[in-house]
Amino acid sequence: MALTRNGSIDVDVAIVGAGMAGLSAALELQRAGRSIAVLEARDRAGGRLESRQLADGVWIDVGGQWVGPTQDRLYSLARAHGAETFPTWTEGQNVVELGGRLTRYTGTIPKLRPHVVADVGQAMARLDRMARKVPVEAPWNAPKARQWDSQTVWSWMRHNMATPTGREMMEIAVKAVWAAMPADVSLLHLLFYIASAGNFDLLLDTDGGAQQDRFVQGAGSLAQRVADSLGEQVHYGAPVRRIEWSADGVRLMSDGVEVRAARAIVAVPATLAGRIAYDPPLPGYRDQLTQRVPMGAVIKCFAIYDEPFWRAQGLSGSTVSGSGPLTLTVDNSPPSGSPGILVGFLEGDHARSFGRVPADERRAAVLANLVQLLGPRAGQPVDFIEKSWAEEEWSRGCYEGYTPPGVLTAFGPALRAPIGALHWAGTETATKWNGYIDGALQSGERAAREVLEKAPAGAGAAVGSAAG
Ligand SMILES: Cc1cc2nc3c(=O)[nH]c(=O)nc-3n(C[C@H](O)[C@H](O)[C@H](O)COP(=O)(O)OP(=O)(O)OC[C@H]3O[C@@H](n4cnc5c(N)ncnc54)[C@H](O)[C@@H]3O)c2cc1C
Repeated sequence: MALTRNGSIDVDVAIVGAGMAGLSAALELQRAGRSIAVLEARDRAGGRLESRQLADGVWIDVGGQWVGPTQDRLYSLARAHGAETFPTWTEGQNVVELGGRLTRYTGTIPKLRPHVVADVGQAMARLDRMARKVPVEAPWNAPKARQWDSQTVWSWMRHNMATPTGREMMEIAVKAVWAAMPADVSLLHLLFYIASAGNFDLLLDTDGGAQQDRFVQGAGSLAQRVADSLGEQVHYGAPVRRIEWSADGVRLMSDGVEVRAARAIVAVPATLAGRIAYDPPLPGYRDQLTQRVPMGAVIKCFAIYDEPFWRAQGLSGSTVSGSGPLTLTVDNSPPSGSPGILVGFLEGDHARSFGRVPADERRAAVLANLVQLLGPRAGQPVDFIEKSWAEEEWSRGCYEGYTPPGVLTAFGPALRAPIGALHWAGTETATKWNGYIDGALQSGERAAREVLEKAPAGAGAAVGSAAG
């Protein structure tokens, strides 16, 4: 890192965003001996990962928290930084509420009437089969890409699922994974997402799936630990407002600091990348993509009790609710089992509608839902914490950016294609575990590799040639 006369920083590569994508790009480039500057809008690292420590020292994640099989990059990063994991609590019976009726069950699919179970089962098997035909590097090249990208998941459900209850279950699954409604999401996007994870079960399952393990000190703490290892190369409170760029260099103007570099990696969701001013303006094709990748809507809630009282009743704390406002809950107690913590999610339409009511009204509705699912003790938490991600200026929603119909086939290639000295990262650009922390790590590695290929060692930073 070198300071120029006018106070700007000169480096080989500037990185926008200290989420897991930006951090993983930074680690790769540092390993390759490149000088870097990471510009982060918030006063912390992690982006959509954020850990908080409760008064008794227990950690919770108000953002992303789980890691599961085949998410090898994340397990390996955790090992390298000494972050311990432990299994999500699943012992006991789960509870499902559909149409006001409660049923207890074990496993992923509730014990519903056989024709409903068959309906959900055939739908999931068909989606898996179709997903296997989607090339994760270029979903727009799938044999039926146009047909699949011309309909929403809802239109597909209407034509391919026979039972209203089965469709209700599928809607819950879509909300749980995409924090959006089936009517929002392109069928092709859903199939691509399933393909990038491996199969539908991996997305939904706890044991053996994406919700299998948690981090003892939180996933957000891991991100901060990684950022701390990069030291002063990470600049906080530095939202990038404007990027001047050419084929040979970039100049980034942030609130805090100005950086000149040979290349930049913009590691933020597409819709946030679209809020940065570019000079010259980006080609219309890329700009129009950034207008078309909305973020889901989720409010993550924690009800904290002296103990996990549901365990003594033979319940796992895992619930699914058709009426809501919670879509689902999971036992989120620490490894010691004390205090008892339930995590619950308002997703899609419920996050949108309850995001607009006063916090005490929302809390009352969530607790009433918990009482319905787990009994009266659920209504008496010692603490209640919530976070609505749609309100976050530097996320603008979660869990991830999804694509509505028509976007992947018309604009898909613009997700990753570099433009001049600009490269794009972020979990939305991943081909494995798209939308997840693991995908963010993959995207950062890929963008770093692109940069290293374009600017091999010794080529020198063509700093300032973008803007003088
Ligand atoms: C409630 C919730 C639950 C989730 N659960 C899970 C889970 O259990 N497991 C899982 O794998 N994933 C989960 N996710 C998704 C996961 O958090 C994301 O996939 C991942 O963190 C994305 O990382 P990223 O680096 O691509 O993006 P981000 O984390 O969004 O990082 C982008 C960074 O860029 C910064 N930024 C934005 N604009 C600018 C700008 N103009 N200038 C400078 N900085 C900027 C942001 O502040 C942010 O730090 C969850 C997300 C949420 C919110």
